[in-house]
Amino acid sequence: MIYATRTGVGIHTGQPCTATLEALPPGSGIVFDTPQGIIQAQADRVIETLRCTVLGSGEARLSTVEHLLSACAGRGIRDLKVTVDGPELPILDGSAAGWAEVLPQSPLHLREIPEPLIVTGKGGAFIACFPAEKLTVTCAIAFEHPLVGTQVARWEPPPAPASGGAYLEEIAPARTFGFIEEVQKLLDAGLAKGGSLDNAVIVHQDRYEPPLRFANELARHKLLDLLGDLWLAGFLPKADIIAMKPSHGLNCRLASLLSRIDFE
Ligand SMILES: [Zn+2]
Repeated sequence: MIYATRTGVGIHTGQPCTATLEALPPGSGIVFDTPQGIIQAQADRVIETLRCTVLGSGEARLSTVEHLLSACAGRGIRDLKVTVDGPELPILDGSAAGWAEVLPQSPLHLREIPEPLIVTGKGGAFIACFPAEKLTVTCAIAFEHPLVGTQVARWEPPPAPASGGAYLEEIAPARTFGFIEEVQKLLDAGLAKGGSLDNAVIVHQDRYEPPLRFANELARHKLLDLLGDLWLAGFLPKADIIAMKPSHGLNCRLASLLSRIDFE
């Protein structure tokens, strides 16, 4: 069964790409079918985390998988074939809404973890994951910027039978963002080729362009990214997850730790 086909450009490469989402039998996992070969959506397939999450296997590679994977995490989708004809998933409107709204809601796949996990990065960045009865995710960002400052976002899906709760309405629509100074540098360096005001929020000194969908949309987007990267573990932990200034690098390191838990 085909859920949907989405066409658009990649935000970093500017390359066009059509992605077709198709149901797979239970146990298949999430699979990207690229012109160069198959890539399983697994933590050990991460080959780059600089500006987005890039997966690779053999000759095949695919950039910016995190928003689609976030939609899968929020919707509880563990088995999916994504057939692509380009090097980077379409950015759509910069959020996960365009992916999440075409996927059905399945029970979230939560697993108990035996002990706390923590990954740390530069500048006080960390993600801590404490075993708990249920899943809660709290994500904070902090920028020395007159407009942004500190923002916090939270997501707590209702308990079993687990559903995505408010993911579709409150997390999926949060768009990616960039600071105007950085955006200019990226464009000068020939990067962010597909970026535009249709798929990203530009942060100026005194305003957001276009206007925000939520007062804490930036923190919500970081939470969205975190869920997408963690889904590379194949499950979400029954845990209190506290993320401070998370990045794709940190997210994927935690996903790797989770994926290596021996559940017997
Ligand atoms: Zn993102």
